[in-house]
Amino acid sequence: MGVPLASESRLASLRGRRPTLATLCSHSSLQIFHGARSEGYSTLGLCVGAPPRFYDAFPLARPDRFLSVPSVKELPGVAERLRAEGAVIVPHGSFVEYVGAQTFAEIDVPVFGNRAVLAWESDRRKERDWLELAGVSMPKRYEDASEVDGPVIVKYYGAKGGKGFYLAKNREALEDFHPTGPYVIQEYVLGTRYYMHFFYSPLSDRGYRVGHGSLELLGMDRRDEANIDELYKLGAQEELLRAGIRPTFVVTGNVPVVLRESLLPQAFDVAARIVERSIDLFGGMVGPFCVEGIMTEELDFKVFEISTRIVAGTNLFISGSPYSDLVAPGLSTGRRIAQEIRRGESEGRLNEILS
Ligand code: ATP
Repeated sequence: MGVPLASESRLASLRGRRPTLATLCSHSSLQIFHGARSEGYSTLGLCVGAPPRFYDAFPLARPDRFLSVPSVKELPGVAERLRAEGAVIVPHGSFVEYVGAQTFAEIDVPVFGNRAVLAWESDRRKERDWLELAGVSMPKRYEDASEVDGPVIVKYYGAKGGKGFYLAKNREALEDFHPTGPYVIQEYVLGTRYYMHFFYSPLSDRGYRVGHGSLELLGMDRRDEANIDELYKLGAQEELLRAGIRPTFVVTGNVPVVLRESLLPQAFDVAARIVERSIDLFGGMVGPFCVEGIMTEELDFKVFEISTRIVAGTNLFISGSPYSDLVAPGLSTGRRIAQEIRRGESEGRLNEILS
């Protein structure tokens, strides 16, 4: 038996009825709706203004109904309507970013996953503490610019959609950095980036056992990041700056990747440690999460970020991936979420996967 996350009162709106799976019409919503429909759930699209027309082009992923609000900030105000619909909110990256982690954590509607994770993920320092306690390899952090002994990336607190990073080749180059808010200085790791899509099920009792449940690997991608990539990010910086171009990491797309098979044990070990520590710290991370890191030439995977919900890179694999096909043919992360909810319902364990 896992950790209860949701109180009786939180789940009262679901008593005696099948949930409707709801998400914000953006990011990975096509996949989430498609997965929910494939598992027999009704679906609700939350949208700002008129329902987006592109759903008409994708009949297998169009939500059954839409609920429109004038602005995304007003979503908490429709909580009563959502409860009346028997909604379970499936969070995705944009959903939490647009609504704000704090507001999202307070929405009075059942949410898939453990909303306690938001406090740990949305604060760079807390996230680092979590990863350090998990014992995973990470880019070195410099407490002060005077300690810098190599290339660095400076990050402001709070994600800014890939903007607001500062790269410096060395300590001297860092002198040109004039901060406009709280920031951290991190070792700039040279290597290959991998964004690994895991799923932790506290309900499962087979497979790769971790905590009370099991861990699945459903896919892997690399992000296309404007406006420069890989080594050039560092090498071309000065020339680009002279031309008035400041490098950003704005994500423009995703490409599928696979890891050398001999590195899979390391990937699972890193993900398992992160899950295990999350159980000790805040009752556990549930469902999809993404371990984002850089594999160095020494084959040391350095984790720079963890996203604790479905990431847009999973959209590559709506009809399966080289990994998820070995769990169940054609399985997407969106569908896996719906399967977990179905299992929670049938075993009377929704309180372990919703919060
Ligand atoms: P998001 O929330 O959108 O994932 P973020 O603002 O939290 O973004 P990060 O994910 O930490 O930012 O980093 C953004 C990008 O910067 C990464 O995708 C990667 O390309 C690059 N990056 C981050 N940390 C490092 C590092 N230590 N060394 C080299 N590159 C890095």
